[in-house]
Amino acid sequence: MPVIGNLSKGKQSERKPEKQHILNTPFKIHILGASAAIPTSARLTTTQLVQYHNKNFLLDCAEGTQKQLRIFKLPMMGINHIFISHIHGDHYLGLPGLIFTMHLLGRKKPLHIYSPQGMQEIIDLQYRISNLVPGFEIRYHVISQGGQIIYHDNQIMVESIEMEHTIETYGFLIREKQEPLKIRKKAIEKYNISVADIKRIKAGKDLKIKNNEVIPNSQLTLPPAIPRSYAFCSDTGFTSKYIEQIKHADLLYHEATFLHDKVDIATQKTHCTALQAAQIASQAQVRQLMIGHYSARYDELSELLAEAKSEFENTIIAMEGDVIELPYKPGEEALSEE
Ligand SMILES: [Zn+2]
Ligand SMILES: [Zn+2]
Repeated sequence: MPVIGNLSKGKQSERKPEKQHILNTPFKIHILGASAAIPTSARLTTTQLVQYHNKNFLLDCAEGTQKQLRIFKLPMMGINHIFISHIHGDHYLGLPGLIFTMHLLGRKKPLHIYSPQGMQEIIDLQYRISNLVPGFEIRYHVISQGGQIIYHDNQIMVESIEMEHTIETYGFLIREKQEPLKIRKKAIEKYNISVADIKRIKAGKDLKIKNNEVIPNSQLTLPPAIPRSYAFCSDTGFTSKYIEQIKHADLLYHEATFLHDKVDIATQKTHCTALQAAQIASQAQVRQLMIGHYSARYDELSELLAEAKSEFENTIIAMEGDVIELPYKPGEEALSEE
């Protein structure tokens, strides 16, 4: 269930990745903007901040993003990685301003920007004409295909998802890496297991003890947590091309620009209806669907929600200020699901 309002208290700055167990690592999605094309009096266009442990990933950067970061007390200077789905104004026009503010605030750390070709040209042109050199390095990572691992560290990875849109567009699949098997403490004591054997057991091997007796791995280990995943799909026409890639995601954000009575306009503009977004969620068998990218023609969003729910019950709507937390999935659940 979404948690409405601002849950992030105090300043969160990005620290060096520590070796920490994935257990209960927070995985949150903050909605900063959820409208399509043009902002309305109540909504900004697509922008989300994903917080994983001490990392902050910005997904798209609409006009007004800086203000939203301040309103929701999110750590602007803690953002080191920005992912831009495509170079339509409603998804990137906040980026030049955000970079400018980071410069004015004295940022020194490099900033990584992941996007289709063209983002660097836009930013460089702007700063060349205003005769400004940002006081920090911007590293551009050009995405050129879907299914590309564009970011990874010891806990998490981000993959590009190829969308179907008027220009080159990518969604992002953020998923935890599978952690190794957890060794049972009692087993270490009982069999006096050596460090070398612990390594082998964590890799799935059985343990040989005296008299050639073999202790099966299942008696020595506990299943690890099930990796969580978040798929961000915006903007796109109705297509099945990424269904396999996003299969079983814990949460799918999918654009739902129109109600289905406007399916012709949606098709023509390569966008989806709420019903189509829900059909994709059904086919991909995700746990939960969150719709967004609403056309400015809709003041009231309940019809979009109802339409999506008619096909996929576990649907929520993205609203500015919502914080959606992906619940930790302990390994025991794996056993009961098998
Ligand atoms: Zn858009
Ligand atoms: Zn677009």
